[in-house]
Amino acid sequence: MADSDAKQIAKFIEPLRVKPGSDVDLTRDFDPAYKAGLVTKEKSEEVLQRGVAILSAYQDRLAAQDTTGLLVCLQALDAAGKDGAIRHVMSGVNPQGVHVSSFKVPSAEELSHDFLWRYARRLPARGEIGIFNRSHYEEVLVVRVHPELLERQRLPAAAKGTSVWERRFREINDWERYLTDNGITVLKLFLNLSKEEQRLRFLRRLDLAAHNWKFSVNDVQERRYWDRYQHAFSEMLSHTSTDHAPWYVVPADRKWFARICVSHILAHTLMQIDPHYPTVTPEQKRVEEQARSELLGSAAPEG
Ligand code: AMP
Ligand code: MG
Repeated sequence: MADSDAKQIAKFIEPLRVKPGSDVDLTRDFDPAYKAGLVTKEKSEEVLQRGVAILSAYQDRLAAQDTTGLLVCLQALDAAGKDGAIRHVMSGVNPQGVHVSSFKVPSAEELSHDFLWRYARRLPARGEIGIFNRSHYEEVLVVRVHPELLERQRLPAAAKGTSVWERRFREINDWERYLTDNGITVLKLFLNLSKEEQRLRFLRRLDLAAHNWKFSVNDVQERRYWDRYQHAFSEMLSHTSTDHAPWYVVPADRKWFARICVSHILAHTLMQIDPHYPTVTPEQKRVEEQARSELLGSAAPEG
């Protein structure tokens, strides 16, 4: 990886990072149609492929080094393109090193535990990349927009009340601090879709037979809570983008651009981890030479 490439990528993703401590107003601060001067999907294919190639190379080193894991949390409103982003960005990566976990409405068993329990069970191991398709952030998003979901969590009285969201932000920050301190890098991506583009994508799902399976009436119902979601997202970004686990807001109105952003943010993060293949110690080298002699000396007789 050329140094100039690394610098270029860092510069490209910089405007997408949420500065820790900033007071985010999503609608005011981030444009879902931003495309960094790139013109069309066709002209940008090369840029996406650069990101995918870096990812592939670095994932191999991450697995070989086996000390650091990478957790990528993806959040978005419906139809923002999370699934497609995962599919395209991970296309060049060895599937053995990546696990995708999708989080749905919690089960009865999950509701019987503390709110981070089910996410902790799916964390990547050292050397792995874990992708959370939806994540522990649902606990301050959908659960905040629909207070009846919080009721279902059967919290003790002292853990409820008006300060519950502030407390969850703190607990999430603490948990992520713990993970990063212990070798699990945490990266958070929010795919930012405009209300109009979501409307068009839902209509397309209804109109095109091949897309119809993705349509859910529930999604259109959720759309009625648009403003409440925008507020919950803004709060989440303001309180949980930290130096050790930053949020990036990915403009999602153009799928091709969102994929370029996701691949480059991942590439940048892996370059910062900077994993290396393990070096062979003199003792290992000696054992390997012995093994070589043994193998050479035990060749089967010819014929
Ligand atoms: P999908 O990703 O389209 O399959 O939808 C999954 C659904 O599960 C979404 O409507 C999410 O909002 C919902 N969901 C995910 N996590 C939670 C949670 N912790 N509490 C309630 N609903 C959730
Ligand atoms: Mg859905």
